[in-house]
This record gives sequence, structure tokens and C-alpha cells, in this order.
Amino acid sequence: MKTLQAVRGMNDILPADSALWQYLETKVATLLAGYGYQQIRMPIVEPTELFKRSIGEVTDIVEKEMYTFDDRNGDSLTLRPEGTAGCVRAMLEHGLLGSGVAQKVWYTGPMFRHERPQKGRYRQFHQIGVETFNLTGPDIDAELIVLTARLWRQLGLQDAVTLELNSLGSSEDRARYRDALVTYLRERFEQLDADSQRRLDSNPLRVLDSKNPDTQALLVDAPKLADYLNDEARAHFSQLCALLDAAGVEYRINPRLVRGLDYYGLTVFEWVTDRLGAQGTVCAGGRYDGLVQQLGGKPAPAVGFAMGLERLLLLIQTLEQVPAELANQLDVYLVTVGEAAQRSGLQLAEQLRDDLPQLRMLVHCGGGSFKSQFKKADKSGAPYALILGEQETLEQTIGLKPLRDGGEQEQLAWADIAARLQQLL
Ligand code: ATP
Ligand code: MG
Repeated sequence: MKTLQAVRGMNDILPADSALWQYLETKVATLLAGYGYQQIRMPIVEPTELFKRSIGEVTDIVEKEMYTFDDRNGDSLTLRPEGTAGCVRAMLEHGLLGSGVAQKVWYTGPMFRHERPQKGRYRQFHQIGVETFNLTGPDIDAELIVLTARLWRQLGLQDAVTLELNSLGSSEDRARYRDALVTYLRERFEQLDADSQRRLDSNPLRVLDSKNPDTQALLVDAPKLADYLNDEARAHFSQLCALLDAAGVEYRINPRLVRGLDYYGLTVFEWVTDRLGAQGTVCAGGRYDGLVQQLGGKPAPAVGFAMGLERLLLLIQTLEQVPAELANQLDVYLVTVGEAAQRSGLQLAEQLRDDLPQLRMLVHCGGGSFKSQFKKADKSGAPYALILGEQETLEQTIGLKPLRDGGEQEQLAWADIAARLQQLL
């Protein structure tokens, strides 16, 4: 029979890799708790309409990347391609945005986009997203950036990522700029790549984002969004820059940074690396003051970001920043030879787990000779083996053998095991 395989671009995270995932997730969760952010958990499936209305009909995601299907009632549903839309929906649905109360939340989980799978780009991938509501900034914009900078330091990535920053102004600013840009590009229509030609009508700002070198060359002399910002937007941006300067966070202003989703305005930013090839953005976000109203709520300012966990993990591995202790998933491997030893071994192990709740102990299952069990203990990576044979069981003792850097085996009374392990670990 043909064996079945996972869907292309959707990866299993195998036991050997999950410790690194947990390390990253725990780091982020702890950091966010330290800044007063609370977790929110949304469904993975949402009504298709939600993404059309928030991300925008003429974006890559909605045009060609969504996993959309009709359920048995004939309702059109979509596997979430990102978290912001669902988060805003949930905040609105549960009345959490009323009366101007500031909200700071985060979420994590799989996202789905039908893109061409390659290193750092998958069809199921994972994000941790952070969203804040009812704060107009730029202080909160700065906080989000400062906390990501702290995360990079904690993960040992600080030298490999740089911050790109831009302001998209107000929607009126963008409308005026769009007209100027379209006029400029229309005069050079024939020189544009096919995608950019198509976008010129539907979503001209995305042309700035084109990866095509000829199009990029054409954009050098194009009108600059920065010249179309109103005074308020300008002030917001310069205050943000001043806050980042004060916090010692370096940035590069990138006037062509526009982001791929329609809902952004004012602040946008990306953390990028040159260490992962083409998939260089590890974290991206910005302000989306219009989205809450666009989804049917009373206007509420908002700003947030999302980071791609696969890309961050690739970066941690590329930079060899995987903490050595992750290789070590066990403290103790318990070897029991013979039926009597197996019985008392189980009892002793449970007692040890009561006494040392942090202890990571693998109790050998499946019997076998002392030699074969000891081999497995050695291979397990545990620094210590506890050894219980017939003789030990009769004497109510146990052998404690260091498995690394040699070391002599000690014989301990059962009552002393917990205290001795606590000393050693
Ligand atoms: P890109 O320009 O790389 O396609 P994006 O602008 O579409 O990214 P966002 O929607 O802003 O990405 O998502 C935030 C982050 O999620 C990205 O910076 C990236 O780290 C990660 N990400 C996005 N799409 C994928 C994907 N298909 N596979 C893996 N990670 C992804
Ligand atoms: Mg994309």
C-alpha cells in the first residue's frame, strides 16, 4: 500500500526539534508577561469574509494564498493566513475594546498560506503575534519595537537583525501619494514587470515592494511617500524615532517599506536578516488604526506585529545560538533488572517524582539484560543512571552511576536517593 505523506509545505515538528520550539516559545511568553501582555487564543478557521474585509481583496494573501472551503452548511470558511484579523474580530465580539481601555494581547499558532514552499516559506507556518488596542502611540509603537529588540538579545540574534522603519501616513496621505505614484509609473508602464503592471490599477503601493530589479531601478526617482505625509503623521514618526534613539535601538528608514496588507497606516516596521537568503523578514508589523472600524467596531487605534517562528528558529540554528542544555532532555535513566527490581523500581521512581518534581527521569521499560539497558542509559544523554538489580533490591540500596566524564558508581540507601540527586543536579 502507498504510504501517505503530509501536505506539501506543511511540516511535522519532530521530537528532536520540539525542545528548540519550546525554548523559543517560552522565551517569548516570559518576555511578554514581563511587559504586561496577556495571551488570547482564537480559532484557526474564520469566516472568509473576515480576511477579505481586513487584509484587502487585492492583496497576495486574499487573491491567491488562502485555503478557503465551504463547510457542510455551505458557509465559506478560511484557514487563517495571519492572526490580526481574528484577534480584532475576537476583541470586538467580546466587547474588549469598549470605553477606550488599553489592551495588550498576544497569540501563537499555525497560519496557512498557499505559497511556493522553500526554505523559510511554508504553507503551514507559525507566528507569534502581538496586538495592542486603544493606544495612539508613538510610545506604544516604540514599546513593541523595544521589546522585540530585547528578545533578539535574549536569543543571541541581535547582531544578525536590523530594523527597517517607515511611516505610511494617513489614508488621505496615501491616496494623494497613490495618485502621484500612479502618474509617474504610468508614464513608464512598459518598463514595469507584469505583476507591477497589474498592481498599478489594483494596489499601486505594492509596486514599491516589487522584487524585480528593473522595477526597483525605476522607483529610484519615483515620488516619495515621505513627502506626502501630513504634519501629524510626520510628528508621530519623528517622536517614534526619538523614542527609539533614547532607547538605543538602531533603525534604518526605508521609504519603500509598505507591507503587504491593506490595513496599515502610520508606523510600519520589519526586522530583517541577511542570513536566511530571500526569506529575510523575521518579524513585521505596524499601526492599523482603521481596521477595528473597518470590521464593524467603533474606531479604536491599534498597533501590532507578528514574527515567523520557523525563520527565527532557522536563524538561531544558523548563528549557532541553540543553548547547549537543550541537547539534554533527561537527568536520570533508571535501570531495573529482574521482576522484583522492576516492582520496587516503579515504587521508588514514583517516590522520587514526589520528592523532586523537577526531575526528568526515564524509567526503562521493556526488560532486557543489564548490559542492554545500560547501553540505552548511556545513549539517552542522561548524566546519571540509577541501577537496581536483584542484590540491590534485597539490600534496599541502589547504584548511582555518572554516565559522563567517568566517575565511580556510588551505592545509596533508598532513603538517601532524593537528597543525593538534588545535590548533583
Ligand atoms: P514575506 O514578505 O516574507 O512573504 P509577509 O509580509 O507576507 O512576509 P507577514 O504577513 O507580515 O509576512 O507575516 C509576518 C511574518 O511571518 C513574516 O515576517 C515571516 O517571518 C512570517 N511568514 C510569513 N509568511 C510565511 C510563510 N509562508 N512561511 C514562513 N513564515 C512566514
Ligand atoms: Mg508574504
